[in-house]
Amino acid sequence: MGSLEPDSETETGTGTETETETETETRTGTKTGTGTGSGTGTRTGTGTGSGTRAGTRAGTDNDGDNNNNSDSDNDGDSDSDSDSDSDNDNISDINNNIVVIGGGPAGLIAAEIAATAGRKVTLIEHMPSVGRKLLLAGRGGLNLTHSEPFDTFVTRYGAAAPALSGALHGFDPSALRAWCAGLGERTFVGTSGRVFPQSLRATPLLRAWLRRLDQLGVKTLVRHEWQGWNDDGSLMVHGPHGTRSLRPAATVLALGGASWPRTGSTAAWVPVLRGIDVEVTALQPANCGFVVAWSPEFAGRFAGVPLKNVRLSFAQHSTRGEAMITAGGIEGGAIYAIGAPLREAIAADGFADVIIDLHPDLSPAQLAERFARTRPSDSTSTRLRRVGLTPAAVALMRETGCAPDALKALRLRLVGSQPIDRAISTAGGIAWSEIDEQLMLRRRPGVFVAGEMLDWEAPTGGYLLQACFSTGVAAARGALMLER
Ligand SMILES: Cc1cc2nc3c(=O)[nH]c(=O)nc-3n(C[C@H](O)[C@H](O)[C@H](O)COP(=O)(O)OP(=O)(O)OC[C@H]3O[C@@H](n4cnc5c(N)ncnc54)[C@H](O)[C@@H]3O)c2cc1C
Repeated sequence: MGSLEPDSETETGTGTETETETETETRTGTKTGTGTGSGTGTRTGTGTGSGTRAGTRAGTDNDGDNNNNSDSDNDGDSDSDSDSDSDNDNISDINNNIVVIGGGPAGLIAAEIAATAGRKVTLIEHMPSVGRKLLLAGRGGLNLTHSEPFDTFVTRYGAAAPALSGALHGFDPSALRAWCAGLGERTFVGTSGRVFPQSLRATPLLRAWLRRLDQLGVKTLVRHEWQGWNDDGSLMVHGPHGTRSLRPAATVLALGGASWPRTGSTAAWVPVLRGIDVEVTALQPANCGFVVAWSPEFAGRFAGVPLKNVRLSFAQHSTRGEAMITAGGIEGGAIYAIGAPLREAIAADGFADVIIDLHPDLSPAQLAERFARTRPSDSTSTRLRRVGLTPAAVALMRETGCAPDALKALRLRLVGSQPIDRAISTAGGIAWSEIDEQLMLRRRPGVFVAGEMLDWEAPTGGYLLQACFSTGVAAARGALMLER
């Protein structure tokens, strides 16, 4: 049987932001209510439906699973035959349905919205099960969204904020929390303002969600890959029984970005869309680590050690939090937060110098005064530790040749970005000029797009999943309007 958990290999990747940040999260006791919603008008959360149609394959694959993490081989083939036989029987029914392609959070919520509105929905997924990246995100606590004021929240999407704000308004953070509560997964606000499910896991949420989709009659075809359009405009879908042409009433594409391709997000859609002249901004790693040319001694001793409570600055960007030293560089929430300008500078100049304040709680004068109070006969390292620096911070000063009086402005040279296949998210994607307000492709009427395949990026903090949910909802609403 397939598992709700992603491949074991994917468990061991970097994904450091979620792991390091949520480790330190504590609950403030701000829980969601009973799931009655925020009044944003979303039609999710009813969980009702006919329940009479063929069960979702992913749901039945996963529901019976024991969720044992060691049973994490989602690529196992044991369920393929039964899936594909029933798919073969029913695939001709798809014409005139709403077809959603891609079983990540954007696609799943689009399927739910359309099915809740009473439409027949078919969800197509090329992996053996849906929601694999969502499950991977669950490894780090599943930071679903953020509780900061909406006006501030929207700014986290930078240049894409104006284009995204309609979708974010239409299904906002409180709507997402209410939706979660409606699935039996209440949320809490951590000390940083980030929002998590109480279980800090994705598995219970996904399991309940798939059950709901099943009840709503959503038909899920796993191991079916969308490969583009035929000359007559029909969808070309390749499954275990060969390639079929489908002509749905409306299509939602929610195919994800390019990070962690083992979860299914392979970005094979990029040449397909470019082939019909849709502009796709180059996909690049976002929320990724950066390369530093550490000495072997430093890397050997400190790889895996966090720099806690540091301030990182680059140009006019500044952030405070935790960064993890790795064998090849640095990663973690603090560096991700200023990752976009760093990435751009490295692309332009070949390097970027990030400024690190190793003791942001003390002013330079306070630090100097504390340092002066330490014993001059002690080594500089010992004196620095006495003013509150960790051994890793002291070693970093030595590694970079930073003098003790410059510990609030240590200069660290980054010489590259980590590859996209280990990034948390993807920058770039379908250009906003290619879609209308309903997220419909101008060059392909009736085809809506959602999630990470759109051209936006945001730091970690729940902004990624929120935008995927919000655009999934918006795309489905667009598809429903088209059908009227
Ligand atoms: C390690 C890690 C931790 C993360 N933690 C967080 C977090 O805590 N908070 C947060 O907000 N975000 C987090 N994210 C990011 C978040 O998981 C993604 O932004 C989100 O999953 C993207 O959703 P999506 O639906 O757009 O795409 P995906 O989740 O990538 O789903 C796309 C789906 O489409 C399928 N597909 C692709 N091509 C085809 C095709 N041709 N035919 C059929 N199916 C296809 C894929 O198999 C996949 O199932 C994390 C990501 C990673 C890698």
